[in-house]
Amino acid sequence: MPTAHPLPSARKILSRARAWVPEAIDLVFPPRCVFCRQDVDADTAAETPASIVCETCAEGLAADGRPRCGRCGEPAASIDPCGRCPPQSWQAIAVLGGYDGPLRDAVLRGKRAAGEDGCRGLADLWLRRHAVSARGWNCDCVVPVPLHWTRRLARGSSATETLAAAMARGLGLPASRWLRRVRATRMQNELPPEDRPRNVRGAFRCSPAVRGRRVLLVDDVVTTGATIDACCRELLVAGAAEVRVAAIAKADRSDSRRSPAP
Ligand SMILES: [Zn+2]
Ligand SMILES: [Zn+2]
Repeated sequence: MPTAHPLPSARKILSRARAWVPEAIDLVFPPRCVFCRQDVDADTAAETPASIVCETCAEGLAADGRPRCGRCGEPAASIDPCGRCPPQSWQAIAVLGGYDGPLRDAVLRGKRAAGEDGCRGLADLWLRRHAVSARGWNCDCVVPVPLHWTRRLARGSSATETLAAAMARGLGLPASRWLRRVRATRMQNELPPEDRPRNVRGAFRCSPAVRGRRVLLVDDVVTTGATIDACCRELLVAGAAEVRVAAIAKADRSDSRRSPAP
């Protein structure tokens, strides 16, 4: 029996055509916001041609525009090291906002099945805020914090993989799944902060292909930093030259016990 190939959807055809003649396509079919399905304003589309988030949603989701420390991601006076940074294994971190309000809801929706569009929207907002500084980091590749394969299978997708793919596209870098979670760990939010480092210690393995690379590690939510620290250490052991972190949301230190991230 020959395999039937379903016709590509109109959306798929449009998205392919947009890659070739973006201005013309956007003029006739303005891109729709992935969060509210309204047309993305022509001015926004002109400024950020790949934008898939309307200005109203962008303002709501990025309302927490407070500067954050570029080393630990906590709210601070500027992106300079805040002086209260706990020791960490990464060089820098860029966070979209606090793990609170509409941003928290959007991150949680992105983790569910069929949450890919929302993740791409969050990556779009992260790129609007951080693409310029991230390009200055001269990373070679984008690597997502991995799910264990059993959890990946159960969910059908991985929020961090979708985020990493979208950020990589925006930065013109390859996305590489060099990290694997070799041990199914308990959800970090089921544990008190002091037990989280032990929960993820030794849970990751990295391909030696990372040797000499400058890595942009992507996670959706950073709470105590235990997970990205474990990933970062594994990347460095495998020979990565340095690691920087892109995160959508940061649960602030004072909140890490009260409203932990999954
Ligand atoms: Zn919208
Ligand atoms: Zn800091």
